[in-house]
Amino acid sequence: MKIKYDTPIVEMQGDEMTRIIWDGIKDILLSPYVELNTDYYDLGLENREKTHDKVTVSAAEAIKKHGVGVKCATITPNAQRMSEYNLSEMWLSPNGTIRAVLDGTVFRAPIMVKGITPYIPTWTKPITIARHAYGDIYKNSEILLGADKAECSLCVKYADGRTETKPIAAVEGGGVLQGVHNKDASIRSFARSCFNYSLDTAQDVRFGAKDTISKIYDRRFKDIFEEVFETEYKARFDKAGISYEYSLIDDSVARVIRSNGGFIWALKNYDGDVMSDMVATAYGSLAMMTSVLVSPDGKYEYEAAHGTVTRHYYRHLKGERTSTNPVATIFAWTGALDRRGILDGNTALSEFAKKLEKACIRTIEGGFMTGDLVPLFKRDGIAARSVNTDEFLLAVKNMLETDRD
Ligand code: NAP
Ligand code: MG
Repeated sequence: MKIKYDTPIVEMQGDEMTRIIWDGIKDILLSPYVELNTDYYDLGLENREKTHDKVTVSAAEAIKKHGVGVKCATITPNAQRMSEYNLSEMWLSPNGTIRAVLDGTVFRAPIMVKGITPYIPTWTKPITIARHAYGDIYKNSEILLGADKAECSLCVKYADGRTETKPIAAVEGGGVLQGVHNKDASIRSFARSCFNYSLDTAQDVRFGAKDTISKIYDRRFKDIFEEVFETEYKARFDKAGISYEYSLIDDSVARVIRSNGGFIWALKNYDGDVMSDMVATAYGSLAMMTSVLVSPDGKYEYEAAHGTVTRHYYRHLKGERTSTNPVATIFAWTGALDRRGILDGNTALSEFAKKLEKACIRTIEGGFMTGDLVPLFKRDGIAARSVNTDEFLLAVKNMLETDRD
């Protein structure tokens, strides 16, 4: 008998190779076992063009309504895609649009398997990165100063007519100037998303910034995190036996390197941009990195961290059977099914999700994997065998049906 659930999961189909894999995962690993009940949105670029990107906003609204979504990777248009898909506009990144509607934070964590050791071998547990995705240098204003003398200052005009000015520097002989900002509301949402996700996954939160140097800007982040934690979360953290800790960003980096992993690392926008690439690389493969968008009021959207794997798609179009890794996309589905199960008190659904994740991990640990993992895999007595995507999905299905514990 198939597992059933009542509230739909928002399903967002995507582009290129991941679009193909999406259907394979549903056909082989999900539909035979679960009566999938989805609120479906096609975020493929052709449909975004056809709907003038209204479909992306509708999908985001649906996540607000149902609480759980799963998204396939999608193309973010650039100049080359404009002509390839004959677009009338350079539509925004769907992830950016959905993030803005949900006011959410993205958490990225690696899927770990025996045989693939991180470059930092003491990282025996995953490090989950939470990147604040608003403001700072990503919404800055910059000026290239001419060679003449320049007096640079910050100037604020308040709505009540007051003004406030602070000198920055007197510059001679050319230079550069930059203005950045952030918003209390955004920082507060970021803090709440981090603390919620920390409670859900029973992991500590570490936050790093530079409040010794940036005594107002970074200090604001530190203070808001502390206030939100103390007033809204401390009691629940104590009960769950987890902790929140602030430290200076450089100290935080040093301690992360020495750690065993197993915590959430909350970072400002730029730090998160840089550190997420470092951490992802250190764990081995982008194709094994999961990503979940969590809103401050507890809505979840799951996806793989990688893109649409365009190079493989062009080979697929020529008739080649590619060895594209479906694991992060499978985990996006299992994350969503598990979350649905938790929210609805449907243990059968959550247990299925966990079992499918274990089947993926055991398949790889047994030496059966897509080509991207083969050079990374080293396990005594087990040779890595490269298979194509369909063969891998069937091997996982076989593991799911035969694995007994
Ligand atoms: P990508 O799709 O992540 O692929 C980059 C390369 O990484 C691939 O060519 C492949 O290397 C390897 N790779 C990534 N995922 C893999 C997997 N599952 N299995 C095996 N190898 C994998 O990044 P991209 O080529 O820069 O971007 C392609 C499109 O994706 C772009 O249009 C971009 O806008 C979009 N994108 C979307 C998202 C999203 O929706 N979240 C995120 C990033 C990018 P080899 O070719 O060497 O095998
Ligand atoms: Mg980056």
